[in-house]
Amino acid sequence: MLDEIKDLTSGFPDLCSGFVLGASVKDRPLIGIRLSGNIRAGRQSMKPMVRFVANIHGNEAIGRELVLHLATYLLNAYYEEDRIRRLLDTTDIWLLPSINPDGYENAEKGACSGTGRRHGMYNEGNVDLNRDFPSFKDWRQFQTDPNFSVFPGRQPETLSMMDWDASNPFVLSADLHDGAVLVTYPFDFQNNGAGTNLTPDQDLFDHLARGYVDNHPTMKGSTCFRRAEGGMANGAEWYSRNSKGSTAGSMKDFSYLFTNNIQLSLELTCCKYPTRYFILREWENNKESLINYIEQVHMGIKGVVLNADGTPAENADIVVWNPDGSRRGKNVTSFSTGEYWRLLLPGRRVNTGESSFRIQAFLDDCEVSGRRYASFNDRVIVSEKDPLVVKHLFLRHVGFCGVPEIVEQPGRAESLINQIEQFVQATNQEEQFIQSTNQEFTEEESFPTDSVFSIFDSTDYDDEQSILDEIFTPDLQISSQDEEFAA
Ligand SMILES: [Zn+2]
Repeated sequence: MLDEIKDLTSGFPDLCSGFVLGASVKDRPLIGIRLSGNIRAGRQSMKPMVRFVANIHGNEAIGRELVLHLATYLLNAYYEEDRIRRLLDTTDIWLLPSINPDGYENAEKGACSGTGRRHGMYNEGNVDLNRDFPSFKDWRQFQTDPNFSVFPGRQPETLSMMDWDASNPFVLSADLHDGAVLVTYPFDFQNNGAGTNLTPDQDLFDHLARGYVDNHPTMKGSTCFRRAEGGMANGAEWYSRNSKGSTAGSMKDFSYLFTNNIQLSLELTCCKYPTRYFILREWENNKESLINYIEQVHMGIKGVVLNADGTPAENADIVVWNPDGSRRGKNVTSFSTGEYWRLLLPGRRVNTGESSFRIQAFLDDCEVSGRRYASFNDRVIVSEKDPLVVKHLFLRHVGFCGVPEIVEQPGRAESLINQIEQFVQATNQEEQFIQSTNQEFTEEESFPTDSVFSIFDSTDYDDEQSILDEIFTPDLQISSQDEEFAA
């Protein structure tokens, strides 16, 4: 794999570069390849980052090969196909063929099933890496407890992924698996023991998953032992059908809860580690789906949030209201460069109002200046004719922390009501926050869709890592009942 990446980077030095994220338990490097037009210029502002991570279960090998195939194909096609040239010129694509190289080394070629460390599904620390990420419970504590760290007790491969996520503004991504043929969308964790558990971005996930399935010749009619109607399923519902016990701590739940990164899981083959003969067939099966998936990053609204003095505003909350006036349940946050991306499904027509979104940035500087900032509440048309809109948001001083106020007359009664509700919710949140310093949240609480999501500060990471050596009891990773679960 290292040789393949070296060959590509020396063959296409203007289009790709290698990177190393960290190392596995057995000190194998976590090596990837990054593709983008004019890559030597460094990361270009507002060029969205897309990511594929494969082989998180070390004995699920097809994704690892497929990601390398994707790199080879895109680099060669850049000079021949307008579509691919446009894709690489406008997109920053990061590919990590294996996040579990130790597991891969333990896996047996041709073995279609197998779990645990011995068969290479888990890492060398005998942990299922796709259950090792901070969970919903961790996320809740993270929102309310300023002293809580999500880093201690996790595997080195997981920490590398988390650090990668925290220090880069990924927009769209997928993790690749084998053992079934379908797409799953978050959440993976169970809230009520069985059935679906959907995010507030379900319309988006449905569109993305459907796009992958529709461009794949066999996924919808998969004949694997484990399969889902229509080739796609909610992770929580899928796992509750196919395994017992907790599925907390998956990578895609982590991405959704803790970052702005929208992530699907792609299950590619019934057999976990088929012989090389099958790779070419799987590449042909997934080629259009993968390329189309990357292209989906170019829809919605993107831009830069700026402070009143013109400097980039970091960690501002970008709130969006749907064409029907409802507020989208999850905010995205601006990166240290002020950049933000808000993936949205374009409306089909312009003049009916179905493409008419509203957007507003908020930044509370309560600890330093005690001031609150907001941009204007702007209307943005995101339609199939113009699926991507660039909208820069300018912050101005609108009030003081602890003093709720309406900052904008949005011009429509529904929006006004939404804004009032939003401030009521914000006030409730502040009260909850005060209470939570004395009492923990209870398990029964439902997913708070109005909460403010924020990416954690990557600068804290070095300090967090030093805590690793301290006494910490890791969560139970996966019970023996779950061992039968395949993908
Ligand atoms: Zn898997």
